[in-house]
Amino acid sequence: MNLIDTHTHLYLSAFDNDREQVIKSALNDGVGKFLLPNIDNSTVLPMLKLTGQFPEVCFPMMGLHPTSVKDDYNKELIMVANWLPKETFCAIGEIGIDLYRDKHFFQEQNRAFRYQIELALEHNLPVVIHSRQSFEVIINILKEFKDQQLRGVFHSFTGSPEQAYKAIELGFKLGIGGIVTFKNSGLDSVVEKISLEHIVLETDSPYLAPAPRRGKRNESAYLLYIANKLAEIFSTDIEKVTDITSANAIELFVI
Ligand SMILES: [Zn+2]
Repeated sequence: MNLIDTHTHLYLSAFDNDREQVIKSALNDGVGKFLLPNIDNSTVLPMLKLTGQFPEVCFPMMGLHPTSVKDDYNKELIMVANWLPKETFCAIGEIGIDLYRDKHFFQEQNRAFRYQIELALEHNLPVVIHSRQSFEVIINILKEFKDQQLRGVFHSFTGSPEQAYKAIELGFKLGIGGIVTFKNSGLDSVVEKISLEHIVLETDSPYLAPAPRRGKRNESAYLLYIANKLAEIFSTDIEKVTDITSANAIELFVI
């Protein structure tokens, strides 16, 4: 099996005591690749250090996370742009708009998102989008770039079937993670209406651990719980879920 965790923050301090062990146990359990979304300037060096240690399996992204968009966001964006030619990145991410935690910087988040979409187009990279309570705002922005072959993924998708179809129509994939295993999340009945061809798998570790590990630190090995849940939803086996979602990730991120 060769699962791909398309969204893991393995470089964060939550893994300082056992990072190598976490990667090795995930590799043992059939997770073969780890895509690392950046957060802001403070996370770039830890992320690249990890990528240097595991260059065959760890793939970094470059971007400014919407919850890190503050007064100094222009400075942060210049650093994002400056890093891009220096290293190989598999995506611009994670970027987007977050209206859950703090609406104060909405205009700045909007500008940062648009600027980073331009960077993605310029460097021919996919975008990894964080869309917490901002799905419709984001869809409307993406529509403006419709004819420019922008591609990417709605990370941690938790929307309605109609929203899923809107994302798919724009050529985007849906990142499905631990929430699909939560009782009463309702995400399973949404996923059921989408084809596996439009899905990539992710843990978002250390956050959002799937059942039965809910509430604990998440790690990439738990991608198996998510893959198993999808196999159950689509009445198929985990091998098929792995083959299709990993092919989707390889095509999208060119890894
Ligand atoms: Zn994330």
